[in-house]
Amino acid sequence: MTTPKIEFNLTDSRKQKPSEENLVFGRHFTDHMFIADYVKGTGWQNHRIVPYAPISLDPAAIVFHYGQTVFEGLKAYRAKDDSIRLFRPEENFKRLNRSLDRLCMPQVDEEKAIEGLLELLKVEEEWVPKLEGNSLYIRPFVIATEAFLGVAPATTYQFYIILSPVGSYYEEGIHPVKILVENEFVRAVKGGTGGAKTAGNYASALKAQETATAQGYSQVMWLDGVERKYVEEVGSMNIFFKIDGEVITPAVNGSILEGITRKSIIELLAHWGTPVTERKISMEELAAAHASGKLEEVFGTGTAAVISPVGELNWNGKIMTVNEGKTGALSKKLYDTLTKIQLGDEEDALQWVTELTPSFVKIG
Ligand SMILES: *Cc1c(COP(=O)(O)O)cnc(C)c1O
Repeated sequence: MTTPKIEFNLTDSRKQKPSEENLVFGRHFTDHMFIADYVKGTGWQNHRIVPYAPISLDPAAIVFHYGQTVFEGLKAYRAKDDSIRLFRPEENFKRLNRSLDRLCMPQVDEEKAIEGLLELLKVEEEWVPKLEGNSLYIRPFVIATEAFLGVAPATTYQFYIILSPVGSYYEEGIHPVKILVENEFVRAVKGGTGGAKTAGNYASALKAQETATAQGYSQVMWLDGVERKYVEEVGSMNIFFKIDGEVITPAVNGSILEGITRKSIIELLAHWGTPVTERKISMEELAAAHASGKLEEVFGTGTAAVISPVGELNWNGKIMTVNEGKTGALSKKLYDTLTKIQLGDEEDALQWVTELTPSFVKIG
């Protein structure tokens, strides 16, 4: 099938951009969005860039009732030379397709999706923040639009890409957070949807997060859904441990979301000659490592924070302080290296960055 052209319907009425100081995550949206429609039998069509605006859906649309929807999250960074850079965007669209498959939703054409994103970024170029640490958050998502109350995969869908300028995750530099180990609620189970970026996973996580926040913890650490024994993730981040010199992360098992930051850290550490062990890791093992002074570092990984060092774990009231509550050397080195690669301040040895300079047309 030939890939259809993208139609442009652009507006001249540009919004006032928010101040780049104190940008709140996910509150401001740019002037345009990308949309494509899917109809079973004919496939994806009407690829278009249109003014950002509320959308109209039938109240019976399947997305509202049975949660047939998936999303992605990545960022566009502005380098010192003013170029705009994306970190491994092809990985996000590959993962989008894996999530879509899990939810019985139609695959998108990954190349076409990236083309749509690049065209949208050209239109919205001025929205990519300039202040160091800020970035333009990119949220692709697909929803089931068919009006039908039967529990069955929809026959019509829409694919959107919206953009939101965001501030630095760390206002005062990278710093450790306190984590509450969650013993009651679980995020996902093997065979469930934990490996997909789908709305239900996040709605079901809110209860645990609420309790953790009320107790002064910034995130919960999720344990496996069967035995509540093995570590899975932290909040919406993957998790790494450094124990007695060895870097360990829970092996992907169907319930853990496969982060692109996680993958990048595994590849970067291998490149540095320190391979990461991907395996099951239990709370008992962590507690024992902590007791013997061998739990050297704990850090979460994800697009938003890149690296989020953990300074304290609370497991059933047992407090485990990690690295005296300070950011560890490895956490810091990984954070510095990844952010420098993203911003073009360090050689992109593993060829992760898509740069958008050459064909860029400046608007305004
Ligand atoms: C998105 C996400 C991550 C991190 O993925 P990145 O691709 O590194 O941003 C980890 N866990 C969950 C549950 C997520 O939704």
